[in-house]
Amino acid sequence: MFAAPFEYHRPKSIDEAIKLLREVKGARLLAGGHSLLPAMKLRLASPAALVDIGRIAELSGIKSTKDGLQIGALTTHTAIADSDAIRKSCPVLAETAGHIGDQQVRNRGTIGGSVAHADPGADYPTVLLLLGARFTAVGGKGQREIPAEEFFVDLFTTSLKPGELLTSVTIPATSSGAAAVYLKHRHPASSFAVAGVAALVAVKAGKCADVRIAIGGVTARAVRAAAAEKALAGQAPNEANIARAAAAVADALSEPLSDTYASGEFRVHLATVLTKRALTEAAGKAR
Ligand code: FAD
Repeated sequence: MFAAPFEYHRPKSIDEAIKLLREVKGARLLAGGHSLLPAMKLRLASPAALVDIGRIAELSGIKSTKDGLQIGALTTHTAIADSDAIRKSCPVLAETAGHIGDQQVRNRGTIGGSVAHADPGADYPTVLLLLGARFTAVGGKGQREIPAEEFFVDLFTTSLKPGELLTSVTIPATSSGAAAVYLKHRHPASSFAVAGVAALVAVKAGKCADVRIAIGGVTARAVRAAAAEKALAGQAPNEANIARAAAAVADALSEPLSDTYASGEFRVHLATVLTKRALTEAAGKAR
């Protein structure tokens, strides 16, 4: 399949990109192209113009700041998987990036493109929701920060406004003694998560001082499993308590997605099994 004809622009700065988004009718940002170009070839998307931000150097890179790790929107999955700073301070994110798609996808795909696309089966949204990430966007009206809970709105829908460009993702430091794990049941063709579970556990004096669980792939957007978190908080992370908490994840998974590969019921079952495993692994690492 061939994409419909489109104009092509390659700005050299963020300001120039925003100006193009404002002035060129039907313009859409292009980052790694690994979600947008397939959609254009299938004619699921036919933007009149592409604004290719791939050469804007200030959008790439990883920095440790007082607010936490700051990752430029154009940073590739490979750069995240290989980053010493991320492996040291946020290993779960490096491991997640290392299991996205295949090497070609990881070399071209970007964190900004992935979160802006908001595919329900994408891996970053689940982990970034777990970690309490914040997204920085700039547009005609200036810069704003969006917390992860408000960023992912629905299937392929974020709270980014028309004309806004995501510049970076900031991940606050997690409490000392906490460990996080992300596990997914991957689709055999693409590696997208049919169900993906991220769990964070901090253990103090043998009890769970902090418990966070985020589930992706099952519903239209990644969600926190509040009832399951509450069931384990303050409890010893033993097999019985973890099983009880995992059984409560279904509470957060109303209207599960269903397709020819996996029914909604199967997705919820996978999320329950993966939660049990992820909590057990995270608690083991946290001790
Ligand atoms: P693009 O395709 O360039 O853009 C995607 C969308 O985001 C477009 O609407 C674009 O306008 C918008 N956009 C891009 N950058 C910005 C920005 N800075 N600000 C605002 N909007 C922006 N993903 C997973 O999570 N897990 C997987 O296992 C997985 N497997 C894959 C397997 C294959 C074969 C393929 C082709 C893709 C797979 N992906 C997977 C998706 C992959 O991670 C994509 O790279 C990612 O979803 C999109 O990133 P991109 O940089 O390619 O964005």
